[in-house]
Formats: sequence, structure tokens, C-alpha cells
Amino acid sequence: MVQRKYNFCAGPAALPEPVLEQAQAELLDWQGRGLSVMEMSHRSKEFIAIAEKAEADLRELLAVPDDYAVLFVQGGATAQFSAVPLNLLRGSAKADYLNTGQWSKKAIAEARRFCDVNVVASAENTNFSSIPEPSEWQTDNNAAYLHYTPNETIGGVEFHWLPRVSTPLVADMSSTILSRPIDVSQFGLIYAGAQKNIGPAGLTLVIAKRELLGNAHSLTPSTLNYQTIDDGKSMLNTPPTFAWYLAGLVFEWLKEGGGLEAQAHRNHQKATSLYGFIDGSDFYGNPVEPQSRSWMNVPFTLADAALDKTFLTEAEENDLLNLAGHRSVGGMRASLYNAVSMEAVEALMSFMRDFEQRHG
Ligand SMILES: *Cc1c(COP(=O)(O)O)cnc(C)c1O
Repeated sequence: MVQRKYNFCAGPAALPEPVLEQAQAELLDWQGRGLSVMEMSHRSKEFIAIAEKAEADLRELLAVPDDYAVLFVQGGATAQFSAVPLNLLRGSAKADYLNTGQWSKKAIAEARRFCDVNVVASAENTNFSSIPEPSEWQTDNNAAYLHYTPNETIGGVEFHWLPRVSTPLVADMSSTILSRPIDVSQFGLIYAGAQKNIGPAGLTLVIAKRELLGNAHSLTPSTLNYQTIDDGKSMLNTPPTFAWYLAGLVFEWLKEGGGLEAQAHRNHQKATSLYGFIDGSDFYGNPVEPQSRSWMNVPFTLADAALDKTFLTEAEENDLLNLAGHRSVGGMRASLYNAVSMEAVEALMSFMRDFEQRHG
């Protein structure tokens, strides 16, 4: 008997069990072809069918408009920190960036290699516990685009609204994509590493308005050139085939589960329960302003940080894995991505209640 534990890892994160079971069942022999997906040519008609089905399902889930390219690339979100300015500056020397946390800061630092970054607003002075009011944002009229991080995976800060700007909106959706429906037409470009809410590490999704492509800086490597990648149907070179296949299984699982509306409902319930529990206790705390709390990543602290280690050890003894906060901030963090069930959240809260009674 396989004994799976509750996994709250921030990434690479939990995958849906039915997806892992299907991959296991098909591992040695994919649909009677006598070989695994890992062993297929990416140019074979079998793999091309897998790839096209994954793209079609993703387009359906997110209602991606036809004038948007959907790219399956490599290099993680971190490679897109460079690819975005290389592709989207289009001759401009400036870009707007919003600073709402650790991932925003990394995107900004990388963009500074390529352009003059205008930090529109920063929440650093409140230790990233809130989102700066749009009325205070200082955008630059000459900026080629505005980049932001809709969900800060480390700080647990999420936008539950869309920024309204006149330049193309670029979003690092690594830890929030597919958690709820979004209006893709409001974005110039969306990117997301797969290992949080899409599939295994090694794959990265880019969804881009085609009219913005085709003007990359002349020094852009072809593996980072969105137009070149789109022309090559994301098969300029060998793509991460197994990760692409697994992402496709995740998209099928999401469709069978009622799509993103249903997923949003479940995610909202999971997050609301956990925040409600934390707020109702004097022992646990969450520093983020209530209207900007992330549905996907819930950081929390104990009243006495000296108990952190004991908390994590006992949690693990109770089959609750990967609850340590990011190494840069400490404390705890429970990531509640799509594949994390309400049952897992209830098991966590029950452990937290018991821990508080024994140590509080
Ligand atoms: C995880 C994460 C990244 C980094 O992703 P890599 O795949 O490791 O490059 C970037 N941005 C956000 C918001 C993330 O959650």
C-alpha cells in the first residue's frame, strides 16, 4: 500500500494523485505504443498529439484569445526575468516594475541588466505586508510595459484585482496560474514556472499577445526569443517532453474537476478556513493585510519562535510535510495549490490546534 502524506511544499509542489496514477499506469507503455512518453521523439506524431492536446486544454481552461501565443519553454520563471525585457522593450529604454516582494525584487534586479527600471511603487517599507495603493503608483510614460507579481510566493501577498495601466501588463503568475479564472485579454504577457500549479519542474508557460512579439533585441538568444519559439511551435530544440505530457494530464484533471471556477471555489474555501483559524488564535499569526492575503501560500508565525523547530518536527511526525517558511524569512508557510485538498488543510488545522493546546 502506498502511503502518501500531506505535502504543503511551495515548489516543486504536490501533484494531483489521479495524474500520478495515470502517469504510472502509462509509464512503460503509453497507449499501446510499447514505449514511455520519455522515450518518444518530440517530432513523433504521438508526442505532437500529446503536446497539441495540452495546449488546447490550457487554452480552454483559461479561455485564451486566439491572438495570443501559448509557449511551452524552459529555464523557469527566472529565465523569463531576462526574456521579458529582451522581447518586450521593443526599442524602449524603460520599463515599469512594481515591487511587492522577493520575486518582484529578483525580476527587477535581472531587468536592470537590460533597461532603466522604474520602480512604480514598493511595499518594502511595510516589510511586504501590503500592496501599494494604485493612486500612489508613479508610472513612466515611456515605459515599454508594467511588470508585477500577482502572487508573491514567499510573502503570501496576492492581488485580488487587476492593475489598470496604459502599457502592456506583464505578470509572473508562477504561483497563482490556474488557481482561478483570469481575463487573459487584459495582459500583454503572462509567464509561470510549472512546478507550483501546472506540473513538474523543467517546464515554463508563456502566454503572450502576438502583436507584442517579433521585435526582440538583436542579441536575444533564440531559445529566449518568443517569436522564434512561437514560429517553431515550442519545438525549436528538444522540449521537456515528459513535463509537457504531465502538465497535459493536470489540465485534463482540472477540466474533469469543473474547470477554474470550481477550482477557485475550492481554493477560496481552503484559504479562508486556514486564515480564519490563524486569526482566531492568539498563538498563530499572519502579517499580511487581510484583503491581500494569498490563496496559494499562507505564511504564519508562532507566538514563540523558539518553538518553530518543534512545530516542524511534530508536523512531520503527523504526516504534514514541508511547512517551513522560505529560508529568507523563516517562520512557517503552508502552500495550498490546486492539488492540496481540503482534507489536507483540515489535517493541518487539527494538528495546529493540538500543538497550541500542548505548547501555547
Ligand atoms: C518559484 C517562483 C519563481 C522562480 O521559479 P524558477 O522556476 O525557480 O525559476 C519566480 N517567481 C515566482 C512568483 C515564483 O513563485
